Amino acid sequence: MQLLYGKKEMKEIFNMRKYLIGIDLGGTNIKSSIFTSNFEKVAEYRMSTQAEKGSEIVLLRILESIQELFSITNINASEILCIGIGVPGLLDNKTGISKFSPNFPKWENVHVSEWFESKLRIPTFIDNDVRMNLYGEWYFGAGKGKRNVVLITLGTGLGSGVIVDGKVLYGATGSIGEIGHMNMYRSGRECRCGSSGCLGRYVSAIGILRTLREKMQDGEQSVIYDWINGDYNKITAKMVSEAFDKGDAVAINTLHETGEVLGYALVNIINLYNPECIIIGGGVSLAGERLLKSAREIVERKALQISKNACEIVTSLLGDASGILGAAIYAKNIIGDE
Ligand SMILES: [Zn+2]
Repeated sequence: MQLLYGKKEMKEIFNMRKYLIGIDLGGTNIKSSIFTSNFEKVAEYRMSTQAEKGSEIVLLRILESIQELFSITNINASEILCIGIGVPGLLDNKTGISKFSPNFPKWENVHVSEWFESKLRIPTFIDNDVRMNLYGEWYFGAGKGKRNVVLITLGTGLGSGVIVDGKVLYGATGSIGEIGHMNMYRSGRECRCGSSGCLGRYVSAIGILRTLREKMQDGEQSVIYDWINGDYNKITAKMVSEAFDKGDAVAINTLHETGEVLGYALVNIINLYNPECIIIGGGVSLAGERLLKSAREIVERKALQISKNACEIVTSLLGDASGILGAAIYAKNIIGDE
């Protein structure tokens, strides 16, 4: 880790600077907040990412949202201790370089930390967006006070972060938690990673919509058909939950089957990591028990009994606020450890 300041200087800065910035960089939105050093939110700001315009524009937009926060709060750069940014995709959190991000075109080996440090003279740290969510839920959400936690985010795709014995795990290449590519079928749906049968191709917004669509195209009757005027691209994960609540058999079966696949993944996670708590977050988790009921049944039947009895499966408490908060926590932890 390259730091901007020496150890003694850092101590002084640590005492003087009172605020933290947390940023959640998503494919659609940049969400940012200023926090006090106790993580109380002072202000927040949200703007579109415009990821298609490439890395330089995206970095400038993040900078713009930071400046917007300064003007809302009358806080200036010299009062900020550090910035944490959650970035999707592969990255090196030690050097602050984002290597590749699947939903960001023209985005390769972006020196995120260096860029912000040169513009603002504020120490800036990046980590994977899912891990930032994990820090948020661990400190202030569903994982509070626990030492063994797995967070699974069910969004467009599927990601996870892992805490074992009070430590967030990274692994040789920082890719621990890529359970979206856990192989569930010997042959199955093709995945962007080059393999097939990966968990994320089934248990995610994309996976659920594909399962539903396959059933409808096989001729199964669903109320959703009337809602979309025959245009399958209009189906959303929310519609599936709505149809489920109306007793629609296709939606019920889709969430049941998806929940079962999720259940088998949870069995593997429980047997492998022995967590006290698995937190399910991300937009798809809003389906709640419609999805989790069948997952819990599989866990009940298939996971190692002692491990299973020690593990609760819950939905996230902080929702999409956890990533922004977690980014601030992550950055402050690094500065505090120096
Ligand atoms: Zn894969």
